[in-house]
Amino acid sequence: MTVNVGVVVRYRKAVTYGVHALLAALEAAGTECEIRFGTTPEETAAEITACGADRILVLWSFYSPDAEAMAAELAAVRELADDPRALHVAGGVHATAEPQHVIDSGWDLAGIGEGESTIVALVEALRAGTPLTAVPGLALRDDDGVALRTGPAPQPPLDAFPSFPAPRRTVGPIEITRGCRYTCRFCQTPFMFGGRFRHRSVDSVREHVRRITAHGLRDVRFITPTSLSYGSPGPDPDLDAVEELLSAVREELPPHGRIFFGSFPSEVRPEHVTPAAMRLLKRYVANDNIIIGAQSGSDRVLAASGRGHGADPVRAAVRIAVAEGFRPNVDFIFGMPGEDATDQRASLALASELADLGARIHTHTFMPLPGTPWRDAEPAFIPLETMRALDRLAQRGDAYGHWRKQAEHSARLAETARAYPRRAPRRRV
Ligand code: SF4
Repeated sequence: MTVNVGVVVRYRKAVTYGVHALLAALEAAGTECEIRFGTTPEETAAEITACGADRILVLWSFYSPDAEAMAAELAAVRELADDPRALHVAGGVHATAEPQHVIDSGWDLAGIGEGESTIVALVEALRAGTPLTAVPGLALRDDDGVALRTGPAPQPPLDAFPSFPAPRRTVGPIEITRGCRYTCRFCQTPFMFGGRFRHRSVDSVREHVRRITAHGLRDVRFITPTSLSYGSPGPDPDLDAVEELLSAVREELPPHGRIFFGSFPSEVRPEHVTPAAMRLLKRYVANDNIIIGAQSGSDRVLAASGRGHGADPVRAAVRIAVAEGFRPNVDFIFGMPGEDATDQRASLALASELADLGARIHTHTFMPLPGTPWRDAEPAFIPLETMRALDRLAQRGDAYGHWRKQAEHSARLAETARAYPRRAPRRRV
């Protein structure tokens, strides 16, 4: 007898893109499931209770700073809906990097790596009643509470799955590139998605735009680690490939349609900002700003973090972007490991110089994120003097960001890292 499987999503604004990709994978695989959304713990519990399926996958996804709050929510949902049909699965970067922490925090399963193939295989295994140990990309709890890993989840070409499923409420940005060839030591992207670019084909992007316009929507945005790397395997942009993409999107859009590229939710690397690149964007895009990753004004810290550029290309990028009619939003991270007072002064001086040129500074605090080379690194101390300087920039309207909140997250992440020393989880083959 086939088991009827339902899906309840703990639906949070911060992680909708990843969840949409999973639902799109189920849709693309022709897996028909009753799908429900819970936007609060109470709603999630009510949806579990209301679901008519024999087995229910409850999908959770969160970033590392939210892990503690989500574990508290999970406990609340279990309390409200103590349902033997439910299997709570956590996916995303935190679950991938810290499966033992996720299992200890109360989830039944941790999804490891890219989830599209895993969710399809998981639903099929539950339907057929076959062991979950054969599903790739999972960590399961053994009798001793140890997180046992199944085989690795595949990393198929990006065209294998759409970025979002058909219903209007789940339409979002199109993921055009996954993985990153750069090796910034604070970043989870290469660890989660691999150290090379996988680009979506122009034909697949066209198909997504048709889905968007079929709903009467007119704005197209993209997800990519580095916008101007589209179509390129290496460090140099391929502007012909970028133009082919943008002109195809323009062709698919109605006359009032708008393209947002190099702005939220993606960014560009500073050394990719050239007059030719900016003029190309100006011909196609509706955004008046671009997001540039600078991260530090100290060449020493930039080198230690593996960014692959110094401070001068950041200055040049802001000048070029402003000259070509864009307002740059420039990301900075304060408190990177090994950063000293001289480095922080260099960052503050560069931030102030860029603000005078017309940029807005997006301030962040370094967080030792799981899975990154700097997971166990000690965040540098940020003295009161630096904090006051950042506040002054914000008061002038030249800076924005949640750097104070991130400082709290940073301390909590360091605590978790100490509680879960790096070790290879046991694997069941
Ligand atoms: S910070 Fe950007 S460029 Fe660096 S590894 Fe992450 S995604 Fe790639």
